[in-house]
Amino acid sequence: MESEEGHAGDHSIEAMNENRKKIVILGAGAAGLSAAWKLLREDPRLHVVLIERDPLPGGLAKSISWKGYALDLGPHRFYTEIPEVKQFIKSFCEERMIQVTRASRMYLNGRYIPYPIKPLPTFQALGLSNTLSFSLSALRVLWNKQSDAESYEDYVIGYYGEKLYRRIFQPYAEKVWGIPAAQITAETARVRLRGENIWHSLKDGLLSKHETYVAKFLYPPGGIGDIPQQFAQEIIRDGGEIKINHEVTGVSLNDGRVHEVEVSGPQGVQKLACDILINTAPLPQFAELMRPVPPADILSASASLHYRAITLLYLQYDEDLNINDTWLYFPEEHVPFSRIYVPDNFAPHKKQPGKTCLCVEFPCDVESDLWRMDAFQLADLADRILAPSGLIHRRSIDALVVRIKEGYPLYEIGYEHRVNKTLEYIRSMGNCLTTGRQGLFRHNNLDQSLQMGLQVAEHVLEQKDSDSWYDNIDRYKDYRIVD
Ligand SMILES: Cc1cc2nc3c(=O)[nH]c(=O)nc-3n(C[C@H](O)[C@H](O)[C@H](O)COP(=O)(O)OP(=O)(O)OC[C@H]3O[C@@H](n4cnc5c(N)ncnc54)[C@H](O)[C@@H]3O)c2cc1C
Repeated sequence: MESEEGHAGDHSIEAMNENRKKIVILGAGAAGLSAAWKLLREDPRLHVVLIERDPLPGGLAKSISWKGYALDLGPHRFYTEIPEVKQFIKSFCEERMIQVTRASRMYLNGRYIPYPIKPLPTFQALGLSNTLSFSLSALRVLWNKQSDAESYEDYVIGYYGEKLYRRIFQPYAEKVWGIPAAQITAETARVRLRGENIWHSLKDGLLSKHETYVAKFLYPPGGIGDIPQQFAQEIIRDGGEIKINHEVTGVSLNDGRVHEVEVSGPQGVQKLACDILINTAPLPQFAELMRPVPPADILSASASLHYRAITLLYLQYDEDLNINDTWLYFPEEHVPFSRIYVPDNFAPHKKQPGKTCLCVEFPCDVESDLWRMDAFQLADLADRILAPSGLIHRRSIDALVVRIKEGYPLYEIGYEHRVNKTLEYIRSMGNCLTTGRQGLFRHNNLDQSLQMGLQVAEHVLEQKDSDSWYDNIDRYKDYRIVD
């Protein structure tokens, strides 16, 4: 998606002659695209270049084409509580979005039960004696004050009771994150549960009040990737440049400031002069790009930040499975996947008669068996679990695998210190701003990455010094994550 008619090279020479401010943005995901879009909208004199290693812009929010479907990388609903992003989406693309009603269930004890949980079906799935002991354990939460819990485990036990934690939350969290829940920060639970306890959830489920979860959301009819595609078109129209299939392979510092970015693409290696660098690539990888290399303690701090990878398996079935859910959860340990999303229920107009497409999400570590298995092996594994559960009746007829290395930033206890140390170093450069889900190591939603992109652009436009960017970064900790 370089600027049309191949003028990219001329463009940058012209920019240098004109002495326009050169802004290089590393990554064309939601954060990088929204930053570039705003910069060019507000100041067409800027020279903005986005570097994206993938063949498509969009990062985690892109959609891929397969067998006539537009498939997202896991279920992607658009929902926001941020007034600035609501306003932005309204003018940007809201009129083209469709409204989707969420429907989700959880597979527990051999049954599919509604999620968010409703009392009766949950009790039926758990059985009478389990229900009694779960209720007793949940009663204790009424006396709990949990504001100082340090781990995910302590936080959830405090709000949901030990029994429910051990049966549902612990195996799910450990499957998604890949480490014991006692080593995951309480923040991981806090940003989702927001101090609501089991009794709030049950009341919400019973009365369908939808206070603790999102019942309706917006969705672009061509897949979530419509949003980045529209950004890309408008960026190019406004004079920006997007170098897809290009990877940033080095960031050179001169007197401690970024002055050049090394980019490797189909035509070889290129060096781009840079006045301001905006990074949205993963923080640990970004630290490794610096030349000269950062001090050993910085590299060791950033290298100890971990991501959980995801293997996504898309399956096509030769029958109409009549599944009403937008997605389904699989918390139990013996099931190797965590969630299934049903693309047909996000964009019903794309449904193919007599066929069903499912996307199975396997959280895993890079180089683990689940990461390495091919489409056939994974399809066999998924079908063998889904058939007895009653979700499918025949084996899948085709499969596609997509692997995401940096799926979820992992909030291990102690991670914040490592993030801060890495950020302190980047801050010291003075002309480098890091943002977005990967660039700030924040497990956020799409709307929040859009806000981060818009705000970093505002920061540049207002010509503020980089200290004020880093001084205000804690504002992104208050984001609510919707599951
Ligand atoms: C399974 C899953 C489900 C989700 N569901 C939802 C949902 O329902 N609703 C919601 O709002 N959000 C959801 N999200 C979150 C949402 O996708 C992200 O928050 C958002 O897309 C992140 O955008 P970003 O620009 O910050 O990061 P990214 O999208 O990760 O963008 C970073 C970009 O940098 C590029 N890059 C990295 N290194 C280099 C390099 N060296 N050179 C060049 N390019 C590089 C990458 O290729 C990538 O395009 C989900 C995420 C996942 C993983």
